[in-house]
Amino acid sequence: MFIAEIMGVGDELLYGETVDTNTAEIAVSLRPYAVEVRRTIRVADHLQTLAGEIRQAWRQARLVVLSGGLGPTPDDITREAIAAALDEALEPDPAVLEWLERLFADRGWKMPEANRKQALKIPSARWIANPRGTAPGWWVHREGKDLVCLPGPPAEWRPMWAETLPQLHLPQKPYKQVSLKTFGLGESRIVELLGGLFQRNGQVEVGTYAKVDGVAVVIRGQPNLVDPLAERIRPLLGEAVWGQDDDTLPLLALRTLEARQATLATLESVTGGVLGALLTGVAGASRRYLGGLVSYSQAAKAQLPMDPGIATRHGVVSAAFAEALASAAREMLQATYALSTTGVAGPETLEGQPVGTLYVGLAGPDGTKSRHYRLPGASREMLRQRAAHAALAFLVSELRGAR
Ligand code: ATP
Ligand code: MG
Repeated sequence: MFIAEIMGVGDELLYGETVDTNTAEIAVSLRPYAVEVRRTIRVADHLQTLAGEIRQAWRQARLVVLSGGLGPTPDDITREAIAAALDEALEPDPAVLEWLERLFADRGWKMPEANRKQALKIPSARWIANPRGTAPGWWVHREGKDLVCLPGPPAEWRPMWAETLPQLHLPQKPYKQVSLKTFGLGESRIVELLGGLFQRNGQVEVGTYAKVDGVAVVIRGQPNLVDPLAERIRPLLGEAVWGQDDDTLPLLALRTLEARQATLATLESVTGGVLGALLTGVAGASRRYLGGLVSYSQAAKAQLPMDPGIATRHGVVSAAFAEALASAAREMLQATYALSTTGVAGPETLEGQPVGTLYVGLAGPDGTKSRHYRLPGASREMLRQRAAHAALAFLVSELRGAR
């Protein structure tokens, strides 16, 4: 078996100042290959410890990938650790030194002495150019094994890894992944709905991943089995499926509006602008998203063109109020559709309604509607995010159903 080990290097990873996402991202990139990732670890910037781990990984694995610790500061010791583990000496490379000096000169600076060590390399390594930073990486090929060492910042190592990975000629395996994106179903409910189709064997594997935009049901494995299984699973999830693979709710909502030549306005209470932020995060959003209002206090709500009696009769966390908000937004901005959110983000309950209560209002050419949700979520921020995505999922499903 072809075994790989992946290491994130840096004290900050151990204490959580930086959350180690590199090892996971690199592991995911190996999924299409017949490579078994046996271990991913985080190691401190400590020469003996790191050298020990590299020595052990080099013995056990066919591929070792490291990220981090290639900076110019004295605490960056990954180069030294690899040299010690593989029992080779570090040698300066005049060409790389010149490249570094030029990089600084172009910015009008003199290269600090500390950066010199970024031009050090062991003889069996070859350079991996870094297009976005000062730390080049290494690719060591020795004894039929590979070790790749990358800088820590994702923006720097991603293009370097993308270039190196195909050159490693790892054994391929036929592989495909389909991700069905749902909103409104919990993971345990999905497991129940799928029954025996929720399987995991050597050929195909089904998994659920809860995110702010709902639960993704991922089917991965042999291509000839993945597609048929996905097609059997999709109808079981029904209306809850809003998209697939790289789809995002803001993008899909805007695309759906575009297809109908329709515009959208928002009036947010509980989401406090998160909904508008999601929509405006998409380039070109202004074609379809006219804008919105965050109407948070009672005083601000009193200014809206709507019957003040609705709040007194139904409360501000209610279906009737959500629909009135949506109608007001639609009228104020002269939009085809308007979405509103009202609910309880916590930590206190409101009008006797529990934290996580949400009403989304939708006003359109055919009248107003609303939907009630009880969102799970530990934190206020999580709830606001979920609520904004709930509103977009509601819009997408209604627009799809509409004529
Ligand atoms: P630099 O030349 O920028 O100093 P470096 O190779 O020394 O590069 P580090 O100092 O280890 O890299 O990390 C720099 C930054 O890269 C960190 O502050 C962090 O933002 C990011 N980073 C490092 N390791 C990881 C990781 N495992 N997961 C996610 N981000 C990481
Ligand atoms: Mg570092």
